[in-house]
Amino acid sequence: MIQLYQPLNFMGFVYREIKQAIIDIEMMFGVLSRNPEVKDRPGAKPLQVTSGTVRFEDVHFHYDPDREILKGISFEVPAGKTVAIVGPSGAGKSTISRLLFRLYDLSSGRITIDGQDIRDVQQTSLRAAIGMVPQDTVLFNDTIRYNIRYGRWDASDADVEAAAQMAQIDGFIRMSPQGYETEVGERGLKLSGGEKQRVAIARTILKGPPILVLDEATSALDSHTEREIQDELEKVSRNRTSLVIAHRLSTIVSADEIIVLERGRIAERGTHMQLLAMNGLYASMWNRQREADEAREKLAQFGDDE
Ligand code: ATP
Repeated sequence: MIQLYQPLNFMGFVYREIKQAIIDIEMMFGVLSRNPEVKDRPGAKPLQVTSGTVRFEDVHFHYDPDREILKGISFEVPAGKTVAIVGPSGAGKSTISRLLFRLYDLSSGRITIDGQDIRDVQQTSLRAAIGMVPQDTVLFNDTIRYNIRYGRWDASDADVEAAAQMAQIDGFIRMSPQGYETEVGERGLKLSGGEKQRVAIARTILKGPPILVLDEATSALDSHTEREIQDELEKVSRNRTSLVIAHRLSTIVSADEIIVLERGRIAERGTHMQLLAMNGLYASMWNRQREADEAREKLAQFGDDE
């Protein structure tokens, strides 16, 4: 009986892993059905991650044939380093993260991870190697423990709680009378945007992927929460290859390289200081955002004075 049960158990585990990889991607991108054109090649092998170096080589891409979205993008995220993609709305930033997951195939060029073209490896292995902290974390109507364990189904209770501690949400969870068994959702625990993002960070800590994609929230969190979340994300991304799709420039100042995308082309690239010295698109985005932040702070102060 046990002999029969074990393979079934294993198959259940594999099924959950695959299902999770698919749900992860679909939730992150709001894609409800996968692109049927993206298929594993016959004989595709699992991705072998050695150091986790990601390369985009002269990537061209369009959704509709008459409108090219990415027009020859080349960059490398060296193993363990952080590269941030910034640029005006519609420039193609999120498209870059969709292509890394191979939700679509390129019109030309290639994307490699440790030298392997992502079209040549099994999709499930590709997606298992990449962890993501999406803009909006979807929570299930289940316990908070379930919601964190979703990062890795075979994690022990102690692992779940350790991940929650690292993501600084453990204290909040323990304040509820039922602790980790508290239901989340409409009739249970309601989480703020910052708390949901912490759940996503805890899941990612549990998953422990070699490559991370962080898609920053566009909605502004208050600056204190933003700072805290940023510190936690920095801890998670340390020593992992990280691609950050950034909307707020203040959060990527310390990235190893910042790529400024404009209408599907790389307009500028460099470190924060190098880009400021260029006095171009990045510098003007930076100044505009700083002025907006200052105005917001003044407004908040004014509100406090009243
Ligand atoms: P934002 O900062 O507003 O999130 P972005 O730089 O991430 O923008 P993308 O989401 O990559 O931009 O979109 C780039 C362009 O591709 C946009 O003009 C968008 O309208 C278009 N686009 C995105 N998804 C699709 C799709 N599924 N089909 C057709 N066009 C799309």
